[in-house]
Amino acid sequence: MTSLIAPRRISVPVNVGGVMVGGGAPIVVQSMTNTDTADIEGTASQIASLARAGSEIVRITVDRDEAAAAVPHIRDRLAKRGVKVPIVGDFHYNGHKLLGDHPACGEALDKLRINPGNVGFKDKKDRQFGAIVETALRYGKPVRIGVNWGSLDQELLTHLMDENAKSASPKPARAVMHEAIVQSAILSAERAEEMGLGADRIVLSAKVSAVQDLIAVNTLLAQRCRYALHLGLTEAGMGSKGIVASSAAMGIVLQMGIGDTIRYSLTPEPGGDRTLEVRAAQELLQTMGLRSFSPIVTACPGCGRTTSAVFQELARDVQNMIRERMPEWRQRYPGVEALNFAVMGCIVNGPGESKHADIGISLPGTGEQPAAPVFIDGKKAMTLRGPNITTEFKAIVEDYIEKRFGAGVRESV
Ligand code: SF4
Repeated sequence: MTSLIAPRRISVPVNVGGVMVGGGAPIVVQSMTNTDTADIEGTASQIASLARAGSEIVRITVDRDEAAAAVPHIRDRLAKRGVKVPIVGDFHYNGHKLLGDHPACGEALDKLRINPGNVGFKDKKDRQFGAIVETALRYGKPVRIGVNWGSLDQELLTHLMDENAKSASPKPARAVMHEAIVQSAILSAERAEEMGLGADRIVLSAKVSAVQDLIAVNTLLAQRCRYALHLGLTEAGMGSKGIVASSAAMGIVLQMGIGDTIRYSLTPEPGGDRTLEVRAAQELLQTMGLRSFSPIVTACPGCGRTTSAVFQELARDVQNMIRERMPEWRQRYPGVEALNFAVMGCIVNGPGESKHADIGISLPGTGEQPAAPVFIDGKKAMTLRGPNITTEFKAIVEDYIEKRFGAGVRESV
């Protein structure tokens, strides 16, 4: 199939704790904990769970002495569990002080995130920003300069607004805000470079909470610099709204060939599963054809032709099976992540869609023969009947994966 995705913008590659970001490397999935970083066990557990779900970099808040002091211990706990995911420290306001008072924190982290709008004001701004960059230089760490429109550098914004007001053809206020975000990121990066931090140690992000703003600021950033770019819609919100808005915004930017790493900033339900943001990021990249993480299940929405719950239950069970089995499949069957399964509700589109999948099943709709033809590699392979369709279909999937990707197959190739 011809891809309409624009050629990838090639940024300067950055090594973040062994994970390459930019320079044409696969787009990296990131996430962030919501535990109190001072809670060593709770934070290490959530980092491990995000990493297990597929997060390739995890960010943690470092907001006070207790959190900074906890960072090396979190690193140790993760090492004992065999979790090697790179950890990024998120600093605001007092980062310069925390990193100065807790040198082991800076050493243990794989990247430092600075928000140039939150490092200090007036003459303190340069000094405190410089102190964080010096820590990065001392320990050989990369830095993400992450501008957020909610904490945009007000001095810069005011200056650009004043200049705009004096201009013969003033731009809309929103365009000036975009310009301020972009300038804040690039000027800060240039200042870090002047201090000796190479472009190969700098990632930029410009986060906003509206879809069109995200597209605008990242388009400008991509035109004006070669730094690696991290994408994310900030304060995206809860549930489907957060996922839809983030996917719309990042999908368009990625389609333009822009973006080296992404995060979904979703608000979880109280006590909800933080790993949802990792799955959403993976599914965006996979459904766009940019990366493969796990077999995709194509399922029809169902309609008046599917009056029993069998079809929904099978689609759910296959999806759950993939989630549970993927950690083992990933180790044993390289390539399994690119598979496509189809679970379809009736004969209208069922056989056709199933034939396009690696394995597909077309369940009987209301009034149809109680039989479910299974298609493997585009050909009808068998028909399942009776109460054990789910168990039998799962066994067919396991068998197919072993035959196609098992060690014996690879050795004979
Ligand atoms: S495949 Fe059948 S059950 Fe599914 S949406 Fe189409 S008509 Fe409805």
